[in-house]
Amino acid sequence: MNSVGKVGWGLVGASDIAARFIIGAIRSQPDAEVVAVMSRSPQWSAEYARIHSIPSHHTSVADLVANPDVDVVYVSSDNRLHREQTMAAARAGKPVLCEKPLALDPADAAAMVDACREAGVVFGTNHHLRTAAAIQTIRRVVREGIVGRPLAARVSHLTNLPEHLRKWRIKEPAAGGGPINDMGTHDFDALRFILGADIVDVTAMTVSQGLAAAGIEDGVMASLRFDGGLLASFHAAYNIGFAGSALDVYGTEGSLLCRNAMSATGGAELVLRTAAGDRAVDIGPQGLAYEGTVRAFIDAVRGRGEPAATGFDGLQSLLVATAVRESARSGRAVAISNLMALAREES
Ligand code: NDP
Repeated sequence: MNSVGKVGWGLVGASDIAARFIIGAIRSQPDAEVVAVMSRSPQWSAEYARIHSIPSHHTSVADLVANPDVDVVYVSSDNRLHREQTMAAARAGKPVLCEKPLALDPADAAAMVDACREAGVVFGTNHHLRTAAAIQTIRRVVREGIVGRPLAARVSHLTNLPEHLRKWRIKEPAAGGGPINDMGTHDFDALRFILGADIVDVTAMTVSQGLAAAGIEDGVMASLRFDGGLLASFHAAYNIGFAGSALDVYGTEGSLLCRNAMSATGGAELVLRTAAGDRAVDIGPQGLAYEGTVRAFIDAVRGRGEPAATGFDGLQSLLVATAVRESARSGRAVAISNLMALAREES
Protein backbone atom coordinates (compact mmCIF):
# COMPACT_ATOMS: atom_id res chain seq x y z
CA MET A 1 0.00 0.00 0.00
CA ASN A 2 1.38 3.40 -0.90
CA SER A 3 1.78 6.41 1.38
CA VAL A 4 -1.81 7.56 0.76
CA GLY A 5 -3.21 4.10 1.49
CA LYS A 6 -3.89 3.00 -2.09
CA VAL A 7 -3.40 -0.58 -3.20
CA GLY A 8 -1.05 -0.62 -6.22
CA TRP A 9 -2.04 -3.08 -8.94
CA GLY A 10 0.51 -4.66 -11.28
CA LEU A 11 -0.97 -6.06 -14.49
CA VAL A 12 0.65 -9.25 -15.77
CA GLY A 13 -0.54 -9.35 -19.36
CA ALA A 14 -1.07 -6.26 -21.45
CA SER A 15 -4.41 -7.73 -22.36
CA ASP A 16 -7.63 -6.83 -24.06
CA ILE A 17 -9.71 -7.64 -20.95
CA ALA A 18 -7.60 -5.33 -18.79
CA ALA A 19 -7.87 -2.55 -21.37
CA ARG A 20 -11.64 -2.88 -21.78
CA PHE A 21 -12.70 -3.52 -18.19
CA ILE A 22 -10.19 -4.16 -15.42
CA ILE A 23 -8.14 -0.96 -15.55
CA GLY A 24 -11.39 0.99 -15.33
CA ALA A 25 -12.70 -1.25 -12.55
CA ILE A 26 -9.50 -0.69 -10.52
CA ARG A 27 -9.64 3.05 -11.14
CA SER A 28 -13.27 3.16 -10.05
CA GLN A 29 -12.14 2.23 -6.52
CA PRO A 30 -11.12 5.15 -4.29
CA ASP A 31 -8.31 3.16 -2.67
CA ALA A 32 -6.64 1.52 -5.67
CA GLU A 33 -4.45 2.47 -8.59
CA VAL A 34 -2.76 0.79 -11.56
CA VAL A 35 0.98 1.16 -11.09
CA ALA A 36 2.63 -1.23 -13.56
CA VAL A 37 2.05 -3.49 -16.55
CA MET A 38 4.04 -6.39 -17.94
CA SER A 39 4.16 -7.83 -21.45
CA ARG A 40 6.97 -9.98 -22.82
CA SER A 41 7.18 -7.54 -25.70
CA PRO A 42 9.10 -4.35 -24.76
CA GLN A 43 7.34 -2.38 -27.50
CA TRP A 44 3.87 -3.51 -26.45
CA SER A 45 4.42 -3.02 -22.71
CA ALA A 46 5.67 0.55 -23.35
CA GLU A 47 2.86 1.31 -25.78
CA TYR A 48 0.19 -0.16 -23.47
CA ALA A 49 1.56 1.84 -20.52
CA ARG A 50 1.43 5.00 -22.63
CA ILE A 51 -2.12 4.39 -23.93
CA HIS A 52 -3.47 3.65 -20.44
CA SER A 53 -1.29 6.14 -18.48
CA ILE A 54 0.36 3.42 -16.38
CA PRO A 55 3.53 4.71 -14.65
CA SER A 56 5.78 1.61 -15.05
CA HIS A 57 6.17 -1.12 -17.62
CA HIS A 58 8.14 -4.35 -17.48
CA THR A 59 8.97 -7.32 -19.68
CA SER A 60 9.20 -10.00 -17.00
CA VAL A 61 7.08 -11.02 -14.04
CA ALA A 62 10.21 -11.04 -11.88
CA ASP A 63 10.71 -7.33 -12.56
CA LEU A 64 7.03 -6.49 -12.06
CA VAL A 65 6.75 -8.25 -8.70
CA ALA A 66 10.04 -6.66 -7.57
CA ASN A 67 8.56 -3.22 -8.23
CA PRO A 68 7.92 -1.82 -4.72
CA ASP A 69 4.81 0.03 -5.93
CA VAL A 70 3.13 -3.27 -6.85
CA ASP A 71 1.05 -4.51 -3.91
CA VAL A 72 -1.17 -6.98 -5.78
CA VAL A 73 -0.97 -8.73 -9.14
CA TYR A 74 -3.70 -9.23 -11.73
CA VAL A 75 -2.86 -12.05 -14.16
CA SER A 76 -4.63 -11.78 -17.53
CA SER A 77 -2.05 -13.29 -19.82
CA ASP A 78 -2.30 -16.23 -22.14
CA ASN A 79 -3.77 -19.18 -20.18
CA ARG A 80 -0.55 -21.15 -20.59
CA LEU A 81 1.32 -18.58 -18.53
CA HIS A 82 -1.04 -18.22 -15.56
CA ARG A 83 0.64 -20.91 -13.47
CA GLU A 84 4.24 -19.69 -13.60
CA GLN A 85 3.20 -16.05 -13.26
CA THR A 86 0.98 -16.73 -10.24
CA MET A 87 3.76 -18.78 -8.63
CA ALA A 88 6.22 -15.91 -9.16
CA ALA A 89 3.85 -13.44 -7.53
CA ALA A 90 3.21 -15.81 -4.60
CA ARG A 91 6.96 -16.28 -4.08
CA ALA A 92 7.28 -12.50 -3.90
CA GLY A 93 4.50 -12.41 -1.29
CA LYS A 94 2.06 -10.57 -3.56
CA PRO A 95 -1.67 -11.43 -3.63
CA VAL A 96 -2.99 -12.57 -7.01
CA LEU A 97 -6.29 -12.10 -8.82
CA CYS A 98 -6.00 -14.51 -11.74
CA GLU A 99 -8.12 -14.83 -14.83
CA LYS A 100 -10.04 -17.94 -15.70
CA PRO A 101 -9.29 -20.64 -16.62
CA LEU A 102 -6.76 -20.62 -13.79
CA ALA A 103 -4.54 -22.92 -15.85
CA LEU A 104 -4.74 -25.49 -18.62
CA ASP A 105 -4.87 -28.39 -16.25
CA PRO A 106 -6.42 -28.89 -12.79
CA ALA A 107 -3.08 -30.13 -11.42
CA ASP A 108 -1.54 -26.75 -12.28
CA ALA A 109 -4.47 -24.91 -10.71
CA ALA A 110 -4.18 -27.05 -7.56
CA ALA A 111 -0.46 -26.20 -7.39
CA MET A 112 -1.31 -22.49 -7.67
CA VAL A 113 -3.85 -22.75 -4.85
CA ASP A 114 -1.29 -24.57 -2.68
CA ALA A 115 1.52 -22.11 -3.48
CA CYS A 116 -0.61 -19.10 -2.56
CA ARG A 117 -1.79 -20.77 0.63
CA GLU A 118 1.79 -21.64 1.62
CA ALA A 119 2.97 -18.11 0.83
CA GLY A 120 0.05 -16.71 2.85
CA VAL A 121 -1.18 -14.53 -0.04
CA VAL A 122 -4.78 -13.96 -1.06
CA PHE A 123 -5.61 -15.78 -4.29
CA GLY A 124 -8.77 -14.93 -6.23
CA THR A 125 -10.25 -16.05 -9.55
CA ASN A 126 -11.90 -13.47 -11.77
CA HIS A 127 -15.29 -15.16 -11.92
CA HIS A 128 -16.74 -11.68 -12.07
CA LEU A 129 -20.37 -12.82 -12.51
CA ARG A 130 -20.55 -13.60 -8.79
CA THR A 131 -20.80 -9.87 -8.24
CA ALA A 132 -23.27 -9.24 -11.09
CA ALA A 133 -26.61 -8.00 -9.75
CA ALA A 134 -28.60 -10.63 -11.68
CA ILE A 135 -26.59 -13.60 -10.37
CA GLN A 136 -26.69 -12.21 -6.82
CA THR A 137 -30.47 -11.73 -7.05
CA ILE A 138 -31.06 -15.26 -8.37
CA ARG A 139 -28.90 -16.64 -5.56
CA ARG A 140 -30.77 -14.63 -2.94
CA VAL A 141 -34.23 -15.65 -4.20
CA VAL A 142 -33.20 -19.33 -4.33
CA ARG A 143 -31.78 -19.10 -0.79
CA GLU A 144 -34.96 -17.46 0.48
CA GLY A 145 -36.81 -20.58 -0.68
CA ILE A 146 -39.15 -18.66 -2.97
CA VAL A 147 -38.93 -21.32 -5.71
CA GLY A 148 -39.07 -24.12 -3.14
CA ARG A 149 -36.54 -26.91 -3.51
CA PRO A 150 -34.46 -26.50 -6.69
CA LEU A 151 -34.88 -29.55 -8.93
CA ALA A 152 -33.01 -28.49 -12.06
CA ALA A 153 -31.24 -25.58 -13.70
CA ARG A 154 -30.17 -24.42 -17.15
CA VAL A 155 -27.36 -22.15 -18.26
CA SER A 156 -27.02 -21.07 -21.85
CA HIS A 157 -24.16 -18.81 -22.95
CA LEU A 158 -24.31 -18.15 -26.68
CA THR A 159 -22.41 -15.53 -28.59
CA ASN A 160 -21.13 -14.61 -31.99
CA LEU A 161 -17.48 -14.34 -30.95
CA PRO A 162 -16.44 -10.72 -31.62
CA GLU A 163 -13.90 -10.28 -34.41
CA HIS A 164 -11.19 -8.91 -32.07
CA LEU A 165 -11.32 -12.11 -29.97
CA ARG A 166 -10.95 -14.47 -32.95
CA LYS A 167 -7.31 -15.23 -32.21
CA TRP A 168 -5.92 -17.85 -29.79
CA ARG A 169 -9.43 -18.74 -28.57
CA ILE A 170 -10.30 -20.42 -31.87
CA LYS A 171 -6.93 -21.03 -33.51
CA GLU A 172 -4.42 -22.40 -31.01
CA PRO A 173 -5.44 -25.61 -29.24
CA ALA A 174 -2.51 -25.30 -26.82
CA ALA A 175 -3.73 -21.90 -25.60
CA GLY A 176 -6.73 -23.37 -23.76
CA GLY A 177 -9.44 -21.36 -25.54
CA GLY A 178 -12.79 -22.63 -26.83
CA PRO A 179 -16.18 -22.05 -25.19
CA ILE A 180 -15.75 -24.71 -22.47
CA ASN A 181 -12.81 -22.93 -20.85
CA ASP A 182 -13.79 -19.45 -21.93
CA MET A 183 -17.48 -19.22 -21.04
CA GLY A 184 -18.13 -22.59 -19.41
CA THR A 185 -15.86 -21.92 -16.43
CA HIS A 186 -17.98 -18.84 -15.60
CA ASP A 187 -21.19 -20.81 -16.10
CA PHE A 188 -20.14 -23.71 -13.85
CA ASP A 189 -19.02 -21.24 -11.21
CA ALA A 190 -22.29 -19.28 -11.37
CA LEU A 191 -24.34 -22.48 -10.92
CA ARG A 192 -22.19 -23.57 -7.95
CA PHE A 193 -22.52 -20.10 -6.43
CA ILE A 194 -26.30 -19.94 -6.87
CA LEU A 195 -27.14 -23.51 -5.90
CA GLY A 196 -24.58 -23.90 -3.11
CA ALA A 197 -23.71 -27.36 -4.40
CA ASP A 198 -20.85 -28.93 -6.32
CA ILE A 199 -20.99 -30.57 -9.72
CA VAL A 200 -20.12 -34.23 -9.26
CA ASP A 201 -20.26 -35.63 -12.78
CA VAL A 202 -20.88 -34.58 -16.36
CA THR A 203 -21.81 -35.95 -19.77
CA ALA A 204 -21.00 -33.75 -22.76
CA MET A 205 -20.89 -33.40 -26.53
CA THR A 206 -19.06 -30.80 -28.58
CA VAL A 207 -19.26 -29.62 -32.19
CA SER A 208 -16.89 -27.82 -34.52
CA GLN A 209 -19.07 -26.07 -37.08
CA GLY A 210 -16.44 -24.07 -38.91
CA LEU A 211 -15.60 -21.08 -36.75
CA ALA A 212 -12.95 -22.66 -34.51
CA ALA A 213 -10.04 -24.49 -36.12
CA ALA A 214 -7.49 -27.17 -35.27
CA GLY A 215 -9.90 -29.37 -33.37
CA ILE A 216 -11.17 -26.67 -31.00
CA GLU A 217 -14.91 -26.88 -30.35
CA ASP A 218 -17.12 -23.93 -31.20
CA GLY A 219 -20.17 -25.35 -29.44
CA VAL A 220 -20.79 -27.60 -26.44
CA MET A 221 -23.76 -29.06 -24.57
CA ALA A 222 -23.54 -30.98 -21.33
CA SER A 223 -25.58 -32.45 -18.52
CA LEU A 224 -24.21 -31.62 -15.07
CA ARG A 225 -25.19 -33.57 -11.97
CA PHE A 226 -24.80 -31.84 -8.59
CA ASP A 227 -24.32 -33.34 -5.17
CA GLY A 228 -27.84 -33.64 -3.80
CA GLY A 229 -29.04 -34.96 -7.17
CA LEU A 230 -30.02 -31.77 -9.02
CA LEU A 231 -29.43 -31.79 -12.79
CA ALA A 232 -28.41 -28.79 -14.91
CA SER A 233 -28.00 -28.37 -18.63
CA PHE A 234 -25.15 -26.30 -20.06
CA HIS A 235 -24.88 -24.91 -23.58
CA ALA A 236 -22.14 -22.59 -24.80
CA ALA A 237 -21.18 -21.57 -28.31
CA TYR A 238 -19.07 -19.08 -30.22
CA ASN A 239 -21.17 -19.18 -33.38
CA ILE A 240 -24.74 -18.43 -32.25
CA GLY A 241 -25.38 -14.74 -32.65
CA PHE A 242 -29.10 -14.44 -32.12
CA ALA A 243 -29.81 -15.88 -28.69
CA GLY A 244 -27.74 -14.29 -25.90
CA SER A 245 -27.44 -15.93 -22.52
CA ALA A 246 -29.88 -17.34 -19.99
CA LEU A 247 -29.87 -18.94 -16.57
CA ASP A 248 -32.96 -20.64 -15.14
CA VAL A 249 -33.59 -22.42 -11.85
CA TYR A 250 -36.62 -24.73 -11.68
CA GLY A 251 -37.97 -25.47 -8.20
CA THR A 252 -40.88 -27.26 -6.56
CA GLU A 253 -42.78 -23.98 -5.98
CA GLY A 254 -41.70 -21.92 -8.95
CA SER A 255 -39.05 -21.09 -11.51
CA LEU A 256 -36.63 -18.22 -12.01
CA LEU A 257 -36.12 -17.40 -15.67
CA CYS A 258 -33.31 -14.97 -16.46
CA ARG A 259 -32.41 -13.63 -19.90
CA ASN A 260 -29.00 -12.00 -20.49
CA ALA A 261 -28.00 -13.57 -17.20
CA MET A 262 -24.31 -13.94 -18.05
CA SER A 263 -23.69 -10.35 -19.09
CA ALA A 264 -20.92 -8.47 -17.27
CA THR A 265 -22.38 -5.13 -18.28
CA GLY A 266 -26.03 -5.50 -17.27
CA GLY A 267 -29.21 -5.89 -19.30
CA ALA A 268 -30.45 -8.98 -17.45
CA GLU A 269 -34.20 -9.53 -17.03
CA LEU A 270 -35.51 -11.85 -14.34
CA VAL A 271 -38.98 -13.40 -14.09
CA LEU A 272 -40.42 -15.46 -11.25
CA ARG A 273 -43.01 -17.97 -12.49
CA THR A 274 -45.26 -19.56 -9.85
CA ALA A 275 -48.85 -20.79 -9.60
CA ALA A 276 -49.80 -17.08 -9.35
CA GLY A 277 -48.35 -16.40 -12.82
CA ASP A 278 -45.30 -14.45 -13.99
CA ARG A 279 -43.84 -11.56 -12.01
CA ALA A 280 -40.77 -9.47 -12.92
CA VAL A 281 -38.13 -9.53 -10.18
CA ASP A 282 -36.29 -6.28 -9.54
CA ILE A 283 -32.56 -6.84 -10.00
CA GLY A 284 -31.63 -3.31 -8.95
CA PRO A 285 -28.84 -1.28 -10.57
CA GLN A 286 -26.76 -3.43 -12.91
CA GLY A 287 -23.27 -1.96 -12.90
CA LEU A 288 -20.09 -3.44 -14.30
CA ALA A 289 -19.58 -6.81 -12.57
CA TYR A 290 -15.78 -6.44 -12.69
CA GLU A 291 -15.97 -3.52 -10.27
CA GLY A 292 -17.51 -5.73 -7.59
CA THR A 293 -14.85 -8.39 -8.11
CA VAL A 294 -12.03 -5.86 -7.83
CA ARG A 295 -13.67 -4.34 -4.71
CA ALA A 296 -14.02 -7.72 -3.00
CA PHE A 297 -10.41 -8.58 -3.83
CA ILE A 298 -9.09 -5.34 -2.35
CA ASP A 299 -11.20 -5.92 0.76
CA ALA A 300 -9.80 -9.46 1.07
CA VAL A 301 -6.24 -8.12 0.78
CA ARG A 302 -7.08 -5.62 3.52
CA GLY A 303 -8.25 -8.50 5.71
CA ARG A 304 -11.98 -8.02 5.14
CA GLY A 305 -13.47 -11.28 3.90
CA GLU A 306 -12.56 -13.41 0.91
CA PRO A 307 -12.35 -12.70 -2.81
CA ALA A 308 -15.73 -13.05 -4.59
CA ALA A 309 -14.36 -16.28 -6.07
CA THR A 310 -11.32 -17.85 -4.45
CA GLY A 311 -8.52 -19.83 -6.10
CA PHE A 312 -10.31 -22.96 -4.92
CA ASP A 313 -13.44 -21.84 -6.78
CA GLY A 314 -11.31 -21.37 -9.90
CA LEU A 315 -9.93 -24.88 -9.45
CA GLN A 316 -13.49 -26.22 -9.21
CA SER A 317 -14.65 -24.53 -12.41
CA LEU A 318 -11.56 -25.80 -14.23
CA LEU A 319 -12.20 -29.33 -12.96
CA VAL A 320 -15.71 -29.21 -14.42
CA ALA A 321 -14.40 -27.76 -17.71
CA THR A 322 -11.82 -30.53 -17.89
CA ALA A 323 -14.48 -33.17 -17.17
CA VAL A 324 -16.75 -31.72 -19.88
CA ARG A 325 -13.93 -31.88 -22.42
CA GLU A 326 -12.96 -35.40 -21.37
CA SER A 327 -16.57 -36.59 -21.55
CA ALA A 328 -16.99 -35.16 -25.06
CA ARG A 329 -13.76 -36.84 -26.12
CA SER A 330 -14.48 -40.25 -24.61
CA GLY A 331 -18.25 -40.40 -24.96
CA ARG A 332 -18.52 -41.36 -21.28
CA ALA A 333 -19.73 -39.70 -18.10
CA VAL A 334 -16.81 -38.24 -16.14
CA ALA A 335 -16.74 -37.94 -12.34
CA ILE A 336 -15.15 -34.78 -10.90
CA SER A 337 -13.88 -36.64 -7.82
CA ASN A 338 -11.57 -38.76 -10.00
CA LEU A 339 -10.12 -35.65 -11.65
CA MET A 340 -9.72 -33.91 -8.29
CA ALA A 341 -7.77 -36.85 -6.89
CA LEU A 342 -5.52 -36.86 -9.97
CA ALA A 343 -5.00 -33.08 -9.75
CA ARG A 344 -3.94 -33.34 -6.10
CA GLU A 345 -1.57 -36.23 -6.89
CA GLU A 346 0.05 -34.37 -9.78
CA SER A 347 0.28 -30.91 -8.22
P1 NDP B 1 -5.20 -11.09 -25.15
O1 NDP B 1 -5.45 -11.76 -26.47
O2 NDP B 1 -5.36 -9.63 -25.07
O3 NDP B 1 -3.74 -11.55 -24.69
C1 NDP B 1 -3.21 -11.28 -23.39
C2 NDP B 1 -1.72 -11.60 -23.38
O4 NDP B 1 -1.52 -12.98 -23.62
C3 NDP B 1 -0.94 -10.88 -24.43
O5 NDP B 1 -0.56 -9.61 -23.96
C4 NDP B 1 0.24 -11.82 -24.64
O6 NDP B 1 1.23 -11.66 -23.66
C5 NDP B 1 -0.35 -13.17 -24.41
N1 NDP B 1 -0.72 -13.82 -25.69
C6 NDP B 1 -1.74 -13.51 -26.51
N2 NDP B 1 -1.74 -14.31 -27.59
C7 NDP B 1 -0.72 -15.16 -27.41
C8 NDP B 1 -0.19 -16.23 -28.16
N3 NDP B 1 -0.76 -16.58 -29.32
N4 NDP B 1 0.87 -16.89 -27.68
C9 NDP B 1 1.43 -16.55 -26.51
N5 NDP B 1 0.99 -15.53 -25.75
C10 NDP B 1 -0.05 -14.85 -26.20
O7 NDP B 1 -6.09 -11.82 -24.06
P2 NDP B 1 -7.55 -11.56 -23.49
O8 NDP B 1 -7.64 -10.25 -22.82
O9 NDP B 1 -8.57 -11.89 -24.48
O10 NDP B 1 -7.58 -12.71 -22.34
C11 NDP B 1 -6.59 -12.70 -21.31
C12 NDP B 1 -7.05 -13.59 -20.18
O11 NDP B 1 -8.25 -13.08 -19.62
C13 NDP B 1 -7.37 -15.04 -20.57
O12 NDP B 1 -7.01 -15.87 -19.52
C14 NDP B 1 -8.90 -15.03 -20.74
O13 NDP B 1 -9.47 -16.31 -20.53
C15 NDP B 1 -9.28 -14.06 -19.65
N6 NDP B 1 -10.55 -13.34 -19.91
C16 NDP B 1 -11.46 -13.24 -18.88
C17 NDP B 1 -12.64 -12.59 -19.04
C18 NDP B 1 -13.57 -12.46 -17.89
O14 NDP B 1 -14.68 -11.97 -18.11
N7 NDP B 1 -13.22 -12.83 -16.67
C19 NDP B 1 -13.01 -11.99 -20.34
C20 NDP B 1 -11.97 -12.07 -21.33
C21 NDP B 1 -10.78 -12.73 -21.10
P3 NDP B 1 2.63 -10.94 -23.97
O15 NDP B 1 2.24 -9.52 -24.24
O16 NDP B 1 3.43 -11.13 -22.74
O17 NDP B 1 3.20 -11.64 -25.17
